[in-house]
Amino acid sequence: MKEYHDALLSWYDNEGRILPWRARGEQTINSYHVWLSEIMLQQTTVATVIPYFLSFIQRWPTFQQLAEASLDDILHAWQGLGYYARARNLHLCAKKIANDYTGKLPTNSDELIKLPGIGPYTAKAIAAIAFNEHVLPVDGNIARILSRMYAISIPLPNGMPEIQNAASAFTPVTRPGDFAQAMMDLGATICVPRTPSCEKCPFQPTCKAHALGIAAELPLKNKKRVRPQKYTVAYILKREDGAILLRKRPENGLLGGMMAVPTSEWQLEKLEGKNIGRDAPFITHWKSLKSHINHSFTHFDLEVEPYYGSICAKKAKILDGDWVFPHQLNHYALPKLFKKIIEISLSKLSTIDVV
Ligand code: SF4
Repeated sequence: MKEYHDALLSWYDNEGRILPWRARGEQTINSYHVWLSEIMLQQTTVATVIPYFLSFIQRWPTFQQLAEASLDDILHAWQGLGYYARARNLHLCAKKIANDYTGKLPTNSDELIKLPGIGPYTAKAIAAIAFNEHVLPVDGNIARILSRMYAISIPLPNGMPEIQNAASAFTPVTRPGDFAQAMMDLGATICVPRTPSCEKCPFQPTCKAHALGIAAELPLKNKKRVRPQKYTVAYILKREDGAILLRKRPENGLLGGMMAVPTSEWQLEKLEGKNIGRDAPFITHWKSLKSHINHSFTHFDLEVEPYYGSICAKKAKILDGDWVFPHQLNHYALPKLFKKIIEISLSKLSTIDVV
């Protein structure tokens, strides 16, 4: 097995990706950079993460500085990366490290996993990369490589325990951090889902799936369940001077803590007729903007129908929330979905005499 470890590490030394959070050769590993990049990379591609990572380390170069930042500033800087619970956990985690760990990350996966926003994969990834712990984090890319090398035929996710066992047996004692990153790179560039480039792969002589000619078919996956479709109404409440109402979403739900136009509950049935205004911030005659905005979340799809209503300045004063003019919208941490809702609604409204 050692010859394949060496082959992969030598491939990594020559062909591995140059990434701004990655220490190569004699460079010193910065555990803050490793942690920040691993949180940002959860469910997000490397290309998307790079500019966000660079801007975060420039603005908040240490755990301490990130801990002292306001959540609103962090959410605003996170805008566009999606999965905003990560940004809230990032802040909580930075505060915990600054306050309880004297500004330094714990150095092993058993401790790391106790911190906000750090699950089993991220704990192992940070521990391996930043502290050379003898572990191999298994994400989708690494699961694919291992399932092919060992020709594991149990469909995912049921085959995951076998893949985890293979990962434990396969991790080398020397340079486990570089080995984990090498596996990540191999999965991203060579052992790719549909057309693996086996001819360039350092594991080719030992890979069972390659020998059997079934590389592109693995890993097998259980049939996807149909995702539920949910519906909501977005309430575009316009004050007579053109400002619209934004409110902060509840901290614990989806897109929690982000500013947004108010919506009805996200539910499996469409609101219709008299129920349209059921969850509205204000009782008025809500009119459809005759538009439907579709958005996919991890576990369901959402269809949003924007409705608009108008309000005078005197009554607007008694409502909770911020009244925001269109040119001020980019000062707010708006999730992509709500940016789209507002953009489409305002463009429709510009053709309607509202007040
Ligand atoms: S030989 Fe092919 S299938 Fe096997 S690990 Fe390498 S790229 Fe993947």
